[in-house]
Amino acid sequence: MTDWTRRDLAVLWHPCTQMQDHETLPPIPIRRGQGVWLEDYNGHRYLDAISSWWVNLFGHSHPAINAALKTQLDTLEHVILAGFSHEPAIRLAERLLALAPAGLSRCFYADNGSAAVEVALKMSFHYWQNVGKPDKTRFITLTHGYHGETLGALSVSDVALYRSTYAPLLLTPITVDSPDCARCEPGESWAEHSREAFKQMAATLAQHADTVCAVIVEPLVQCAGGMRMYDPVYLSLLREACDAHGVHLIADEIAVGFGRTGTLFASEQAGIRPDFMCLSKGLTGGYLPLACVLTTETVYQAFYADYTRLRAFLHSHSYTGNALACRAGLATLDLFEETGALARNQTLADHLRAACRRLEAHPHLSEVRQTGLIAAVELLQNRSNRTPYPWQERRGYQAYRKALEQGVLLRPLGNVLYFMPPYVIRPEEIDLMVEVAAQAIAQVTACAD
Ligand code: PMP
Repeated sequence: MTDWTRRDLAVLWHPCTQMQDHETLPPIPIRRGQGVWLEDYNGHRYLDAISSWWVNLFGHSHPAINAALKTQLDTLEHVILAGFSHEPAIRLAERLLALAPAGLSRCFYADNGSAAVEVALKMSFHYWQNVGKPDKTRFITLTHGYHGETLGALSVSDVALYRSTYAPLLLTPITVDSPDCARCEPGESWAEHSREAFKQMAATLAQHADTVCAVIVEPLVQCAGGMRMYDPVYLSLLREACDAHGVHLIADEIAVGFGRTGTLFASEQAGIRPDFMCLSKGLTGGYLPLACVLTTETVYQAFYADYTRLRAFLHSHSYTGNALACRAGLATLDLFEETGALARNQTLADHLRAACRRLEAHPHLSEVRQTGLIAAVELLQNRSNRTPYPWQERRGYQAYRKALEQGVLLRPLGNVLYFMPPYVIRPEEIDLMVEVAAQAIAQVTACAD
């Protein structure tokens, strides 16, 4: 155990962790990061197969983002964004709005993903108040959705492990079944399954439109809820139905935005413009906390009035639109332009699909599912009838430990193992990542029955 590990365990309380687990597997202090690799104090290297909680796009310690931050540091580190402004915040908003689906024309900054979701929920609710529809107070969500851990964001999430303890504190959304295509019947296409699943959403919207502010979804992939994927047709139908019923559509692109699903934003694949688009994580290339909510002129104008009408959106976070974070965001957008990352991601996604073929037909794995640079597979006790392993056995966690020993950082969601690597990963590193996962899977399913 290194000195840093001892000191860590004496003072830190780690996120999303049962700290007792550290009695047998202490946290790993990282000395440096380079590209897809993290290095600890013993010189062990770990391939960051999950982009450090899905934030890192172009690798750790990228020279271009480093240089941009150093320049910014000598100019302005931060300034209050109320009453004041700065070049990186303005330029980043201009560029994001130019890249986002047409019709989004305003950028409201926050400083982390959950905060962006809070902003979108409050803005939607407040919009309806301002336009004289005070009965609209509820939200529609999907089962297995995830939107963050603060109370509002947690309210509209549906991952029992994170939510149920706090249920007495939370809003009560209307929850509709996820279009999760892992549930497809044999021979059913993702598009067919997603269309079928939409019927429940359509009925729910028709029934509750008068009291509903917005539907919130993670476009194409429900990430933290188990990498559950669906077809873009669900989003197209949802956009139409929201329009028909006068309900907002909030696209939480915090995890899927910035090239992860094959397009810069996942909503593009359905050709839709959400009323609110939440962005964070990859927004700064994984460097600094920043988030924003993009919205329409219609929403903006509903808040724009004489002060005494008390219509303003009086929401703020101290680090809103931090200058260093915005500068990292600009450098990240430059990298998309300069490196042709979206086209390269397509090649990498094809390579990942081919590499994952070795996981197909394993008796204790579900089918491999993939959207862009996210591939996932579930450990199952019985593949044919999709029986899960008892969660108490923590097979996913055992796989995590095995893979770490081989120098790959996976962080399964329960028993769902997935790959979500930085875009600078090389084909041979994809092969290594999948090879190590396959070995870990073999080990943790060996004594399966
Ligand atoms: N929405 C989605 C879709 C997410 O995946 C996450 C984080 N995993 C969040 C919101 C919350 O973001 P943050 O962790 O920055 O609060």
